[in-house]
Amino acid sequence: MRYLVLSDIHANSTALEASLAAVEGRWERIVCLGDVVDYGPDPNEVTERVKALDPVIIRGNHDKAVAGLTDLEDFNPVAQIATRWTRGQLRPDNLAYIAQLPAGPSSGNGLTMVHGSYQDEDEYVFAPAHAMGGLLESPSPVTFFGHTHYQGGFSYRAGQVGVIQLRPEPGPKFAALRLEPGTRYLLNPGSIGQPRDGDPRSAFAIADLDHQVIEFWRVPYDIAAVQERMQDAGLPYPLIERLAAGR
Ligand code: ZN
Repeated sequence: MRYLVLSDIHANSTALEASLAAVEGRWERIVCLGDVVDYGPDPNEVTERVKALDPVIIRGNHDKAVAGLTDLEDFNPVAQIATRWTRGQLRPDNLAYIAQLPAGPSSGNGLTMVHGSYQDEDEYVFAPAHAMGGLLESPSPVTFFGHTHYQGGFSYRAGQVGVIQLRPEPGPKFAALRLEPGTRYLLNPGSIGQPRDGDPRSAFAIADLDHQVIEFWRVPYDIAAVQERMQDAGLPYPLIERLAAGR
């Protein structure tokens, strides 16, 4: 089975459509690691598109906040403005879909999905020390996580943690990671709608577990068009600016 692994779409419909178009026919099933909405200008379009794709899906911290399941005070002031705006925009059926998304971890078909860390959906996994729990405790040799909006991840073999850093070439391209037997992986497909790893292209992965290969994709999209919709919506400037910087 070839899985298209999406995370942190963040209500960016232009990035989502560009990514789906770039890999049409290359996958059989979608998995989504949460943060479908918030930050971006298209919460209804993206929620409906995701719903129609019928993914194996877990919630992210922003889905939880938009649905009113967490205290907004945990967010910085800019994020709070976006979350309130998103909540006000979502049609009732879309808000209901976001609110019913299950919390991770979720395991099946040879892989495990989490939003933050394996232990805590709100925890950021940036460094090897944060990755140990997921690498050692997950029931699957391959676990996908999101939340940091950094494409890449970590490996574990014979007591050693490795850092996996990939940079696909310019244009719609992927870098391939060959999975080694006896090695465990904690991998981040990157963010579709708000990359923060210095590459503004939309990020996602395709996991081909039959052939033990993970493709880490980057796809350019019309960032200016999204920024214009954000401006029209009155979303905070720092959120608009960061799309072009990829940070
Ligand atoms: Zn996110």
